Amino acid sequence: MRDASVVLCYHKVGPQAEVGRWLNLEPEALRRQIRFLRRRGFRIALARDLADSRATRLACLTFDDAYQCFVDYGLPILDSEAAPSSIYVVSGEVGGASNWDGDRAAPLAGLEALHAARARGHELGNHTATHRFLGQLSEEEQAQEIATCHDWMQAQGWTPESFCLPYGSHNEVTAAVIARHGYAVGLTTRAGFITAQTDLRLCPRIGVSYSDGVAGLWYKLTIKAWIKGYRV
Ligand SMILES: [Zn+2]
Repeated sequence: MRDASVVLCYHKVGPQAEVGRWLNLEPEALRRQIRFLRRRGFRIALARDLADSRATRLACLTFDDAYQCFVDYGLPILDSEAAPSSIYVVSGEVGGASNWDGDRAAPLAGLEALHAARARGHELGNHTATHRFLGQLSEEEQAQEIATCHDWMQAQGWTPESFCLPYGSHNEVTAAVIARHGYAVGLTTRAGFITAQTDLRLCPRIGVSYSDGVAGLWYKLTIKAWIKGYRV
């Protein structure tokens, strides 16, 4: 993967005792991963930077759903490491809870915290209006989920430049709908790296959670990638 880029998919950040293990990473593990990626020659970048065709060997740290625990525990680590991140906002639940998680619903960041993150150089991206499975929706419904979030973000003075598919769910029309709304970059949950051949509207990502440390991340970027044959 010499010149490939990688998009890492995170959700929660916090102490296990408080946040639990599900989709969570300990704050210091995040710090160690950032340093590990830099030692391996990656430049920590925003997801929207993938659209620059000259960019190679980027590591994009993406945080789905904008959990409050990410604001409390993840952002301070990122800021202290001068590592920018891309945060995916569900416009209909800002300041609410991740009700799509069912029994595991957790608080989501409010407007003020999102403004503050953006002011510190983090990217805010579109994660739809209500976090539904786009692959199960009609083209019109998908467009509405995307446009509602897009318009809401623009009303805040933000122009989202990358899009994250809830659950990675998509069907044959999704990439075109994303493109029609002006997004060059869309993120899925399929595992893989980003190369010159990748369709950037359906980018693969490497999921990081459940207390993956540096060893876990290294395994996913090397041995597991080899076993699974991650490619374009
Ligand atoms: Zn999500």
